[in-house]
Amino acid sequence: MDGKEQIIQLGKILRAEQEQGYADTAVPDGLERYLTSWRLEANGALSHPPVQQTLELLAGYSVFDAITRKTRIDIAIDALRALFRPATPAPAKPAVPAAKLRPQPATEKPAPPLTLETTIDQLPGIGKVTAQSFKRLGVRTVNDMLYHFPHRYDDFTSQKQIADLEIGSTETVVASVIDIRTFGTRSGMGGIELLVGDQSGNLKVVFFRQPWLAKQFVIGAQIVLSGKIDSFQGLRQMTGPDWEPYSDDELIHTGRLVPVHPLTKGLYERNARSIIKRVVDRAAPLVQDYLPAKVRDRAGLMSLADALVQIHFPNDKEHLERARRRIGFDEFLFIQLGVLQRKLLWQGEHGYAMPFNQDVHEELLSKLPFDLTGAQVRALEEIFVDMQRPVPMARLLQGDVGSGKTAVAAATAVQAIANGFQAAIMAPTEILAEQHYKGLKALLGQVRVPRAMQEATAPADAQAAAHQAELTELKRLLGMMPEDDLDGAGVRVALLTGSLGAKERRRVLEGIAKGDVDLVVGTHALITESVQYAQLGLVVVDEQHRFGVEQRQRLKDKGFNPHMLVMTATPIPRTLTMTIYGDLDTSVLDELPPGRQEIKTRWIVSAERDKAYKHMRREISRGRQAYVVCPLVDESEKVDLPSAEEMYAKLQGETFPDLRVTLIHGKMLPREKDEAMVSFRNHEYDIMVATAVIEVGIDVPNSTTMVIEGADRFGLAQLHQFRGRVGRGMHQSYCILVSDKENEVTKQRLEAMEQTRDGFKLAEIDLQLRGPGEFFGTRQSGTPDLKVAQLADTRLLHAANLEAQKILAEDPQLARPEHTLLKGKVEQFWVDAAKAG
Ligand code: ADP
Ligand code: MG
Repeated sequence: MDGKEQIIQLGKILRAEQEQGYADTAVPDGLERYLTSWRLEANGALSHPPVQQTLELLAGYSVFDAITRKTRIDIAIDALRALFRPATPAPAKPAVPAAKLRPQPATEKPAPPLTLETTIDQLPGIGKVTAQSFKRLGVRTVNDMLYHFPHRYDDFTSQKQIADLEIGSTETVVASVIDIRTFGTRSGMGGIELLVGDQSGNLKVVFFRQPWLAKQFVIGAQIVLSGKIDSFQGLRQMTGPDWEPYSDDELIHTGRLVPVHPLTKGLYERNARSIIKRVVDRAAPLVQDYLPAKVRDRAGLMSLADALVQIHFPNDKEHLERARRRIGFDEFLFIQLGVLQRKLLWQGEHGYAMPFNQDVHEELLSKLPFDLTGAQVRALEEIFVDMQRPVPMARLLQGDVGSGKTAVAAATAVQAIANGFQAAIMAPTEILAEQHYKGLKALLGQVRVPRAMQEATAPADAQAAAHQAELTELKRLLGMMPEDDLDGAGVRVALLTGSLGAKERRRVLEGIAKGDVDLVVGTHALITESVQYAQLGLVVVDEQHRFGVEQRQRLKDKGFNPHMLVMTATPIPRTLTMTIYGDLDTSVLDELPPGRQEIKTRWIVSAERDKAYKHMRREISRGRQAYVVCPLVDESEKVDLPSAEEMYAKLQGETFPDLRVTLIHGKMLPREKDEAMVSFRNHEYDIMVATAVIEVGIDVPNSTTMVIEGADRFGLAQLHQFRGRVGRGMHQSYCILVSDKENEVTKQRLEAMEQTRDGFKLAEIDLQLRGPGEFFGTRQSGTPDLKVAQLADTRLLHAANLEAQKILAEDPQLARPEHTLLKGKVEQFWVDAAKAG
């Protein structure tokens, strides 16, 4: 019996629980915990209905009342025992103590019963080689095979009489074999030719290169043929059709929507299909539906077992659609449950309620050199509502490059500080941190915030005097002049990066620990290092794609549950936001500040590069600078595409020997990258050749031209990000895309770049044209892999999101018995996603 040992072990525990009066004391952490880990090790044991029943019965055990516990444990023990009884009907027997729960010695050795965990090589009729081939496809067990979905379907549903067959169409006919002839056996190009007929007429059927087929046909036998009708010398014929003997049973290879499964070496379509058919028919009914019937009804979904059958061997298109919908829904649901649970977890914690301080906000506005855009105002309203609640804010601020996210971050920080908290702003690179620091210090040093506690209550003793001295020193360090210090009332902004000297660094750290620093700007080191905060109330994460569970946990470990604002310029379509950032609420800056110039964008082929270079030279002669971006290339592709290094050598050596060219690439150390960027910003160079590292955070207003080599290799969102590196000053700017790719998709994508400046629109276009897998260029870690669900399928995603919300509203921990299976699936899904990422 499969999983015998595990079942015996389980039986023992249940007996112990029975003996101890159902007090949930049989195992140290309680029965439910135990069952969860038992399930992971259970393997084949799970295939037995009594075991499945036991797990269902006992899910939620910790919250059952005494009677329910007793009833269910007793039933479960009986059910498990029955497994070990001989199949012959036995008289009712007295309870056997668990210690005697031993299997009867096997008297015969029947074929092992099929379970979901049965490995493919144990199945009758599957040889070692075939099993190996399946294994290469990741199909090891019966369950794997159930989830080895077809990648397409041949539509052989149209059945006709031979007389009605039309050349060029794909049809199915049922006919008898009239004649079999082999030809050209010696030439190696041999094959067979059949003549088949039905009552309406005859048809010639040719199979090339498969002379052995002759043995498979019998004159007079009925066969079914599916395929395209060609013409040969003016006569209709079928060449190499799919076929199978006619029978009253269900057709597999012909006359239906015929599934085509992904194959590999050693696996042939017909054979694979027949195996999968057998397995699916027998194993799909064993699959337990982890979706409660209630959810299925609400969302109008077919059962999982049916969906698994139908996705492999659909009755018709409608069934196929429903099967895909069911399985795709599940994928979305797992994601949504996962992210919403995370959000509940984060927001279940106590947070800091920060009442809105109108005066301080208005003072900030008066110091800004511009009026906020409508979008900035709307985003801030949403943020302020969040901050006033005693729940940690978890909000994503999405806004195209240049949409003014920094001002939103500043206004948010000022509110936290006005409430007596500290704020931290994390940038992805040191150079960006420095830029933020400079801008924010100049702006916020001028904004007066209340400092009730410190100044008013400080006792006039030596300690206070010492603190005063420290503060003065810190202010000096922070570059706050006495004249613009607003008597100590202005926001104190500090920078914490690797480039600080040891002494400065210590001072700043002390200032943060004492609460003398209000706003600290740095990289992610702000939370990873041993930075101690006095009262951290807000964390702003700029351009950091993956600020996740772990980072939040770190903050919690430091004793803080700050509000959190994640900012990104990556234009992500709504559906992706819901999956990747589903645990965040979203605000969007969908409006650029007025007066932004358009970046002129042009697509050229590599033969026209000279034009681009001429243009660069002209701009540089006017005192401007330029970027040349190169994609990462493999060794094997070198012929077509220059690497950044090669491009640098060529530009400096041949094209622009008289100009100053520099290089930046991903393999450089962060410090080297920073240095390269700083010297370029200081106009020590005219041209910067770069790999994709340039995507985030270089701000050189004097750069006006961006040339992107191998432009087809990048996602549109990414190209748009690159493009955002120019047009940051007052000069007209240009983006030149170089690509020789001529296919339709590339054409549409690059033309979209020429015509559209809206990052969100470009992202949507890319998602439509290329699908989600390629959307990010490279896959983001932790992005779940979807087999069936289409990210562009907004309706299904919303349906899953809605159900996830309903389920969690009733059962936030998925602790109820009807959710036990679902909970396991969700956990497994995220484990797999983490592994894949
Ligand atoms: P991003 O969203 O890319 O981080 P920034 O915050 O860096 O954008 O803002 C880009 C530029 O726009 C900055 O120079 C900033 O001062 C300016 N800016 C921001 N908001 C406005 C506004 N409402 N009106 C005019 N200029 C603004
Ligand atoms: Mg920014």
